[in-house]
Amino acid sequence: HGTTYDVSLRPVGDHGIVLLSFNDVTEMAQAGQMRRDFVANVSHELRTPLTALIGFIETLQGPARDDTAARERFLGIMAQEAERMNRLVGELLSLSRVEAEERVRPEAPIDLRDVLRGTLRNLAPLADDSNVTLAPTLGDAPALVLGDADQLVQVFTNLIENAIKYGGRDNRVEISVKSTAHDPAMRGPAVHISVRDHGPGIDAIHLPRLTERFYRVDSHRSRALGGTGLGLAIVKHIMNRHRGRLKVTSTPGQGAEFRVILPIKTNSA
Ligand code: ADP
Repeated sequence: HGTTYDVSLRPVGDHGIVLLSFNDVTEMAQAGQMRRDFVANVSHELRTPLTALIGFIETLQGPARDDTAARERFLGIMAQEAERMNRLVGELLSLSRVEAEERVRPEAPIDLRDVLRGTLRNLAPLADDSNVTLAPTLGDAPALVLGDADQLVQVFTNLIENAIKYGGRDNRVEISVKSTAHDPAMRGPAVHISVRDHGPGIDAIHLPRLTERFYRVDSHRSRALGGTGLGLAIVKHIMNRHRGRLKVTSTPGQGAEFRVILPIKTNSA
């Protein structure tokens, strides 16, 4: 049912080493182009709220100087724009930190159910505000992986937050954990964590691009909901570091499912 796409960035090699072949001139040129695009995008994203702020400041210094009602309203909008910039800068820092750590293997044994319980607790107020029911099926058995707890919280926060935001009001978001003794793609035991909503879903043509920085299906809607377009890019880097995969399945009109697949910690690992 629906279209599935593996949105993890790079193929993982036999020994879990992320394959990179930057000896190719074309790839280097592409990397340079990507960096320039990224800088241009960041500048644009920062300038938009900044331009709005400057406009309101000028209005408050001039025409709206003595208009108390307008002042209140403008200050409210200014606070929102400043908050947007703050969020963007926070996510950019997150992205660069995650990228810098991508080659350092996480070593702490972590039960993903604990990570999910904490994440669900944090997101309960947001779900309540949107009248969304969070329906977890975490299972009875520990789901142990070698990981970085903070980063894994970030992964599930981003995915569940998106399901709440884009799934729409009065929705239901199902979160499940399933372990398998042998996952062919992971070549060993793995755990699948699924986050599924029943919102409008995502058209197949967008699926391959979802984890690109600043890629949004509907940028108006994303901005209105406070999105930066960086959430899934951050998820992708964290998954690379954990040697995991991220798959998305969607049937437009029926919702979207994001699946995180992580290698299970075994005694030999
Ligand atoms: P944003 O900050 O815009 O939410 P993300 O990187 O988290 O950025 O997501 C990228 C885009 O993917 C979003 O702008 C949205 O268009 C789409 N998207 C993500 N999750 C969902 C979902 N559960 N349902 C529909 N669209 C989604």
